[in-house]
Amino acid sequence: MGTPTFTLKQIFEMNTFLKRGLAMLPLGLAVMSLMTSCKGKDENAGKDSTKVVAKVPTPGDTITLDPNKRYIYLTWDDSPQPPGTNICRRVFQEQGVKATFFGVGFNMFEPSRRRMIDSIRAAYPQFLLANHSFSHGMQDHYKDFYTHPDSAVNDFLHAEQLMKIPVKIIRMPGSNSWVGKDLNKGPNSAKLVRDRLDSMGYKVIGWDLEWNQKPGTKAPLQTPTEMVDAINKRFEQEYTTEPNAIVILSHDRLFGTQQYADSLAKFIQLLKQDPRNVFETIDHYPLVMRK
Ligand SMILES: [Zn+2]
Repeated sequence: MGTPTFTLKQIFEMNTFLKRGLAMLPLGLAVMSLMTSCKGKDENAGKDSTKVVAKVPTPGDTITLDPNKRYIYLTWDDSPQPPGTNICRRVFQEQGVKATFFGVGFNMFEPSRRRMIDSIRAAYPQFLLANHSFSHGMQDHYKDFYTHPDSAVNDFLHAEQLMKIPVKIIRMPGSNSWVGKDLNKGPNSAKLVRDRLDSMGYKVIGWDLEWNQKPGTKAPLQTPTEMVDAINKRFEQEYTTEPNAIVILSHDRLFGTQQYADSLAKFIQLLKQDPRNVFETIDHYPLVMRK
């Protein structure tokens, strides 16, 4: 019994051991803290499993429309047409509104335009990519295009496959045609193609009102106020294809300068002043959702 005695060598070794231990202490604490925090997360994850996980929005999912609202479907054709496409997207994003871009398939052969199409497709639910044919109606030769229904249908299918269009929604080039449940209307010249697309389960969407191109320019014809007045008038007169819903057609190329980007922003700001107005993508248009 008695106080233990150590040799000088033993004291030196103990001292070294303690020093090393102290040096390792911060690392040890860090590892312990990490283990504790991981454990904490696991415990929370167990508790979170009772929560409802939000469903990822998928193009073509149906939604319930509010009968007290006025739904506005901004549908821009011939996409992509830079720089207008990028500017329109920026304005829509800044304003926080949804829109649909009807893409043309031959753009997929140009890498920068292909990236724009890919990026529009990936931007759902704010933006929807839909089908405006591969050849834009054989490069605007609509008469030839619509008198050959087999090749016209193949043209749409080719565009769908090439651009990976996520919905069976078509805008026919140069033709204000509509196809859906109990509806098949538009110019007679395009009827054969409409009937074929109808039998294949496609929805064809025309337009109620166009924000036109000023002849001989790449500028919009109407002012934002004129467009908003025309939209209000259509709603008031119930002169739209579907009640409480209006399809607006325009083109990316009209908004390629700051001046017209400002016009587009003003147009949206004016519409947003009416709390009844809601902007939606065309997969949420009544005719498209009606089975
Ligand atoms: Zn077009």
